[in-house]
Amino acid sequence: MSDKEFEDLHFPEAPTIVVKPPGPKSREMRQIQDRIESTAVSYPKAVPIAFEEGKGATIKDVDGNIYIDFFGGAGVLNVGHCNPEVVNAAKQQMEKLTHCLDFPTPVRLELEGELIPLLPKKLRDNAKIFFVAPTGSDAVESAIKLAKFNMKRVGVISFEGGYHGMTSGALSVTANKKFKRNFLPLTSEVHFVPYAYCYRCIFKREYPDCDLECARYLEHILDDPESGVVEPAAIIIEAVQGEGGSIAAPDKFIIEVRKIANEYSVPLIVDEIQAGMCRTGRMWACEHSEITPDIMTISKGIGGGLPLSVIAFDQKFDTWEKGAHVGTFRGHVVAMAAAVATLRFIKKHRLWEHARKLGEEIFLPRLEELKEESKYIGDVRGRGMMIGIEFVKDKKSKKPWPEIVRQVQKACYEKGLIIEVGGHYSNVVRFLPPLVLTRQLAEIGINIFAESIKEVETTW
Ligand code: PLP
Repeated sequence: MSDKEFEDLHFPEAPTIVVKPPGPKSREMRQIQDRIESTAVSYPKAVPIAFEEGKGATIKDVDGNIYIDFFGGAGVLNVGHCNPEVVNAAKQQMEKLTHCLDFPTPVRLELEGELIPLLPKKLRDNAKIFFVAPTGSDAVESAIKLAKFNMKRVGVISFEGGYHGMTSGALSVTANKKFKRNFLPLTSEVHFVPYAYCYRCIFKREYPDCDLECARYLEHILDDPESGVVEPAAIIIEAVQGEGGSIAAPDKFIIEVRKIANEYSVPLIVDEIQAGMCRTGRMWACEHSEITPDIMTISKGIGGGLPLSVIAFDQKFDTWEKGAHVGTFRGHVVAMAAAVATLRFIKKHRLWEHARKLGEEIFLPRLEELKEESKYIGDVRGRGMMIGIEFVKDKKSKKPWPEIVRQVQKACYEKGLIIEVGGHYSNVVRFLPPLVLTRQLAEIGINIFAESIKEVETTW
């Protein structure tokens, strides 16, 4: 695996700005979109650009500007925009068979043959898989339903900062109050406990001397008959939190959560929708701590840009009856062909290694330097190519500073770099580039980011 393997996948001239973004065509198309589509449209409000073509880790807008893409479709495009192998497989499948409910098809069985050997070690020997509707949210819905059905219980424990989707059940276990407050009541009996967000430890402790007080709290609510939390059907966790701000919990925290779930006989759902598929430098984020999920959710990156969603679980949970979770687009055949090509590409190029190396050798060291240089970068964290840079008004009080982050995001796209924003207070810049990013593009992108911070800091 070397950069050479990925060099030809991108627009060679990236980044190129021919007209200050958003250019005239982008502005016009945004106006039309605003007129026609719901106010719920989200991403173009922060990055008001209309895109036309993507290649690898680069993307072109309708005005001819070409950007380096550190956003990667919110963690979908791990094998790059329009990966030629994926495009080819999808095209061929389009000409044969496009839709087939859950009937067996050659491509479906091929995909199962590719996916199962890649599952976490202990899960793969006992795994059952189930294709659900195409979104990640539906994988979460089905994982929770499966746990509830098996446990004959209703509650779920989730983590502060956790994001699991927007449908009713998935939103219930999502932490963000803004997303939920106008849609209550959602599923009852969801309890949130602290995640190992060490930069803002609510117990004011420091890892590793903290005895993982956050995990101890989880243990306490399961153990104490007066905690008010009845035995839940499941615990759901991201091994590296995504929307919460690219928070990579210490491995020991994840190991503790697994142990506690075992001790109290609660199935553990590991949501790998964003952190999986090589993003963090392993095939699955939970492999860093070598734990085995009882149920695992997979989506985003698996379809190589096409929507596909699947849960994998220990076969002892496969007790539900025929039709327990039906849907018309469970396992779309064309997306399955794309997924076969995606998984083969990942294996052929050992994409997890490339993600790990770029994170360890380029992103984190360079961003640590930027943190030292900037008064406003409070924390740099992440794993592989799932990186968070948290901005604060001052490093001592750690007061979040979302406004500066929006300005940095704008300065970046004006110079040819697309980035994402997230975190508890929307004060975290998030990098989720396609994993086929080259070192050269990584360095150029980070330099643009550094210049943008300087520009915003001096003009603020
Ligand atoms: N789970 C995690 C960890 C996610 O990051 C997301 C989306 O960002 C989801 C679930 C929901 O996936 P979707 O947006 O495809 O419904």
